[in-house]
Amino acid sequence: MEYSEDQLQRYARHIVLPEVGGIGQTKLIKSKVLVVGAGGLGAPILLYLAAAGVGTIGVVDDDVVELSNLQRQVIHSSSRLGQAKVESASYILKDINPEIRIITHNCRLNRDNGKRLISDYDIIADGSDNFATRFLLADIAHLIGKTLVSAAILRFEGQISTFKSHLGEPYPCYRCLFPEAPADGLVPSCSEGGVLGAVAGIMGSLQAIEIIKEIIGIGESLAGQILLFNALETTFRKIKLSKDPECELCGNKSNNKDLSGNAHP
Ligand SMILES: [Zn+2]
Repeated sequence: MEYSEDQLQRYARHIVLPEVGGIGQTKLIKSKVLVVGAGGLGAPILLYLAAAGVGTIGVVDDDVVELSNLQRQVIHSSSRLGQAKVESASYILKDINPEIRIITHNCRLNRDNGKRLISDYDIIADGSDNFATRFLLADIAHLIGKTLVSAAILRFEGQISTFKSHLGEPYPCYRCLFPEAPADGLVPSCSEGGVLGAVAGIMGSLQAIEIIKEIIGIGESLAGQILLFNALETTFRKIKLSKDPECELCGNKSNNKDLSGNAHP
């Protein structure tokens, strides 16, 4: 594509990278990414994808900005308390990069709207804060063939992986790793257990990096691996994941249903 003088300046630090260049930047501009959750993880994902020039960014969230969010959800601010998070995020993203399209979905991803919400996008980022959304999103992304970059944070720790199990062998799905959501109360939420704000910044920034790598097609994908971060020890640990042949979603028993029972022919 032809770049305007403004675009050449805006994206100069990308274009000068041999791995990105004009071709990679064009891929970013033409890409569509859905970010589920405009919270601690969603904030850096959204900020960096908008700044990077990802041409269409969808954001799903049904919450409003609360005072207790501002310790880590750096896309929101005190002046926008009480606003819908998708509106608060959209306001900043359009200011950072007026050239891109922001699509706000002021709702919670659920069984009824999930497939419709996801199907318009190329890549999905999971920045949700609850297991119901996390598992449903992973199921639908697999069944309708979308790459999912998923991260989770709690206290001083984070984990991130990329899932492209729709491509078959050798890629595991989210349920190969976590067959079922833990029983209620077994794993505390961030509101119960707490989280260091900057851990969300690290993990969300890593999600933005992995999404950009997947779009441009550079580097080593995190598909089939999980990266664990410990802020107290300042360590990163990468572990190989394998596909579970008995997995109910992507293994031999699969019947093309998400495990909440919805068929996706
Ligand atoms: Zn699986």
